[in-house]
Amino acid sequence: MKIHEYQGKEILKKYGVAVPKGEVAFTIDEAVKTAEKIGGSMWVVKAQIHAGGRGKGGGVKLARSFEEVRERAGEILGMRLITHQTGPEGRIVRRILVEQGMNIARELYVGITLDRQRAQNVVMVSTEGGMEIEKVAMETPERILKEAVDPTVGLQQFQARSLCINLGLTGDSLKNCVQFLMMLYKAYEASDASLAEINPLVITQEGHVIALDAKINFDDNALFRHPDYENFRDIDEEDALEVEAAASNLNYIKLDGNVGCMVNGAGLAMATMDIIKLAGGMPANFLDVGGGANAQTVEAGFKIILKDENVKAILINIFGGIVRCDRVATGVVEAAKKVDVQIPIVIRLAGTNAELAAEILQNSGLKFLVASNLKDAAQKVTRAIAA
Ligand code: GDP
Ligand code: MN
Repeated sequence: MKIHEYQGKEILKKYGVAVPKGEVAFTIDEAVKTAEKIGGSMWVVKAQIHAGGRGKGGGVKLARSFEEVRERAGEILGMRLITHQTGPEGRIVRRILVEQGMNIARELYVGITLDRQRAQNVVMVSTEGGMEIEKVAMETPERILKEAVDPTVGLQQFQARSLCINLGLTGDSLKNCVQFLMMLYKAYEASDASLAEINPLVITQEGHVIALDAKINFDDNALFRHPDYENFRDIDEEDALEVEAAASNLNYIKLDGNVGCMVNGAGLAMATMDIIKLAGGMPANFLDVGGGANAQTVEAGFKIILKDENVKAILINIFGGIVRCDRVATGVVEAAKKVDVQIPIVIRLAGTNAELAAEILQNSGLKFLVASNLKDAAQKVTRAIAA
C-alpha cells in the first residue's frame, strides 16, 4: 500500500525521525494559512501524488513570500503532473504539502527495504541524493552502500555509523545522521513498511539531518495489524480497476498488453502470462479469480477485464481441481451472455469434468474458441488478436 509524502512524514515524526515543519492543504487559502502558521521566510509547495520525480515535473516549488506561496499553490493544485513514474497520462494534483524551506548543504539518499534474496532488511545509503536512484544503481552501483540487518537484533549502532562515515560525514552531522538512521529503521519496522525511502536526506547548513522527502510503502500482508492505515488510503491515487477488483475479492493487477487473462491460482496466472508472451502476445492484466471460480466471480472478472480498453481478446485458463470444470463452464456461459462480450474468448479448461465442460461451451450458442492445452490457448488468443 502506497501513501502520500505528508502521511509518511507524519509516521516518521511519530518515531522521532526529523522532518521539516509542514501540513497538507487542499485549497490555495489553506496553503497560505499553513505557510503563515509555519512562519519563517521560505516555504516549499509540493504536489502530493503517489509517484516520484515530482521535482523535475514541476510539482515542487520554492516560495519566498506568502504571495508566492499563493501563486505556487495555484499553479500546482489541479495541475496534471507528469513524471517518469506516472506514465504519459500523468496525475491530477488534488492536495499539496506546504513545508518550511531548508537551507540545504548536502543531499544524500537513504532507503530501507526487504532484500528477498537475503531474507533480511537492507539499509542503503548514497552520496547521490536527490537524483533518480535507479539510475545511480544502474550506472554507478559502487556509490550505493548497504548494510543487511539481522532481524533478531535489528539495526546496530555500528552499522549505522559505518554507513554514515562512508558518506563522508564528520562531527555533529555524523552523530545526527547515525541517530537518524536508527530512528528511521525503528519507524520502518514498527510500521510494517516494505519501503522507507528518503531522497533526499539533507544535511542543512546548520548541520541538522532531516528527511526532505519521504516515500513509505506498507506491507499489504501486515495491514490487518494497522486498521488505522485505512485513513491513509487515497482512492484517487489507486488504479480504479484494481479498487473495483479488490471489492469483489479478485486479485487483479493491470498491465499494458491486450490479452485479458482470467485464471484460477496465482501460479497458473503467472504461467499463463509467460506463455502468452512466448506466443508473441502481451497480457493486459494479472487476474486470479481464486480457487472457487463460480458464475459471480467470472462475471466480476469479465467486467473488470472489459473495462480496460486495450483488451482485444480474453484467455480463460482454469484448472478444475477443487472447482469442477463443468461448473466453471456454466459460469462462463452465463457471465458471457450477461456481460455481452464482443471480443474473442479463448478457453482452456483442464481437470475434473473437462469433457463435460467442453460440451457446455460448444452447445452455448456463443463463439468460444476452445483450446486443448495451454500452448494451444496462447497461440489461439494471439492469432485471434492478429486476425
Ligand atoms: P521528488 O522529485 O518527487 O522526489 O520530490 P522531492 O521531495 O525529492 O523534491 C525534489 C527536489 O526539490 C529536492 O531534491 C530538492 O532539491 C528540492 N527541494 C525540496 N524541498 C526543498 C527545500 O526545502 N529547500 C530547497 N532549497 N530545495 C528543496
Ligand atoms: Mn525525492
